[in-house]
Amino acid sequence: MEEHNTGAGIPNVLLRADFPEVQPTSSSRKRRCERWVLSLTQTELHLHKVNSDSSATHRLALADCIGCRTFREDGDNQVTICFSAVFYPLRKKGRGPSATSSRKKVVKTFRVDSFEIFEKNQEIADIWARKIKELSALSLDVTDGLLYGILPQPSRVLILLNPHSGKGQALQLFHSQVLPMLNETEIQHKLIVTERQNHAHELIQEEDLSLWDAVIIMSGDGLMYEVLNGIMKRPDWETTIKKPLGILPGGSGNALAASINHYSGHDNAVDEDLLINCTFFICKGLTAPMDLVSVTTSHRHMFSFLGVAWGFISDIDIESEKYRTIGSARFTVGTFIRLTSLRVYRGRLSYLPANDDTGKQCKTSVDLEVNGFCHSLSCKQSTSTPNVNSQHMYNACNSNNLMKSHSSDSSIPFSKTTVASGPLDSLAPPLSKPVPNHWTVSEEQDFILVLALYQSHLGDQFFTAPMAQPNDEVIHLFYVKAGISRTSLLKLFLAMEKGTHLESGCSHIVHIPVKAFRLEPFTPKGIITVDGEQVEYGPIQAEIHSRLGRFISGVCT
Ligand code: ADP
Ligand code: MG
Repeated sequence: MEEHNTGAGIPNVLLRADFPEVQPTSSSRKRRCERWVLSLTQTELHLHKVNSDSSATHRLALADCIGCRTFREDGDNQVTICFSAVFYPLRKKGRGPSATSSRKKVVKTFRVDSFEIFEKNQEIADIWARKIKELSALSLDVTDGLLYGILPQPSRVLILLNPHSGKGQALQLFHSQVLPMLNETEIQHKLIVTERQNHAHELIQEEDLSLWDAVIIMSGDGLMYEVLNGIMKRPDWETTIKKPLGILPGGSGNALAASINHYSGHDNAVDEDLLINCTFFICKGLTAPMDLVSVTTSHRHMFSFLGVAWGFISDIDIESEKYRTIGSARFTVGTFIRLTSLRVYRGRLSYLPANDDTGKQCKTSVDLEVNGFCHSLSCKQSTSTPNVNSQHMYNACNSNNLMKSHSSDSSIPFSKTTVASGPLDSLAPPLSKPVPNHWTVSEEQDFILVLALYQSHLGDQFFTAPMAQPNDEVIHLFYVKAGISRTSLLKLFLAMEKGTHLESGCSHIVHIPVKAFRLEPFTPKGIITVDGEQVEYGPIQAEIHSRLGRFISGVCT
């Protein structure tokens, strides 16, 4: 006797029925449709072809499903109705460091034809669509809830898009790749196309963000930097910075997008593959805290999500602007050009190593009213006795003897130079003051580059800090010492694509996990970038602010 596979052996089936599958071509209505038994469990949709052996089965993970809707087909038959579920399963290509992961769309549409009455078929289609959507939505347990969040479903998002980012195709890509996915998930959105540099920076300071569950940036890292710093200038920065930010790679430097893709367990992806992965994350709506870094130069104070660069990397970033039409390949071209005439920069690095727990000894939180804003400090600092060198305060922290310490006007850092508001720095003294005794101060030396990175990727093809996590409370400080040969430097950069550069045994590259650092350049001219944007050249320092921001992050499936 022929054995028919009905999926009867699947445990914990919530819904089971058989329906004909509707193929995506318009003429399909006329074609004979295959009939499938559908079994819906808590985590999967199983499909078994009716009247076939067990080989004709498919399993689709609901974690990959972004939406399910019902619709009526065109044509003369008015009693049937369809439900259609959209999945983006992950396809892996290759193995090891060169593996790539990309999500490819799979749509499964079924016609409900069980009854001769439309309303009865509609009822069944609605039950299936609702249940598939409900089970596809992420849920968190109580412990995760402290760290992670989920956007309301369906969510409302504000999208800011730079039409000139990357190869200038961001708007086109939005319409062809992103919009269909947002519609499939029924995400409501408002799209604002930026008209000029700083447009998003100004707009985000004024916008009523209570209307939106998340703010999405479609561009490179530069527009995210504008938006982050706009948010930090708002009087309500303390709550607004918790509004989830999302990134859709449309630029030539897509470091944040590549990093988030990596944190979610996806292998490297570039171009449209990366864009689809990141859109998928927005559709699923998982949010996670992210460390941010406050950066101070002589005249500015800003916030950063990616990194500070000086020397080889910032030179390439800024000097390759003229090749922007070739997208992220501009960095590869720039690398080869810079290699032919290698520059050496003299300077001094000081830093607070990440494993130094000196600062933790004096961790008592107080609120201090500065410039009309309430700031939370992790080191208790008094403002009563001015004009005492800040060194005293840090020594006091060091010896866990805070109450006996002299206080100092340095307890209100940046009061003169602040552009962004935000939390006060508690690890780094003002730039004009010496670094605390417990910091490490390196010898003045010649560098090829200095890079402080707090994400895994420096660009979508530069897996520079494989050890970095979005909330590891660490600034990954790298430098390459002068004296390295061009060949070794080239090898380092080539290995960086796969993240194996630190395993190469090159003695010229140094990696130090830190919580704060100060860079004092002595070479009179050069380029310093923060998140890929050029800032004033001169002394610069930065410190980590643990979990200050919240970003839409990837889902490990
Ligand atoms: P890319 O990765 O391609 O460099 P970015 O997001 O970094 O893309 O943007 C590059 C620069 O363009 C940033 O400095 C950003 O502030 C600026 N910008 C944003 N919107 C516009 C616009 N409409 N016209 C010109 N420049 C813009
Ligand atoms: Mg950029």
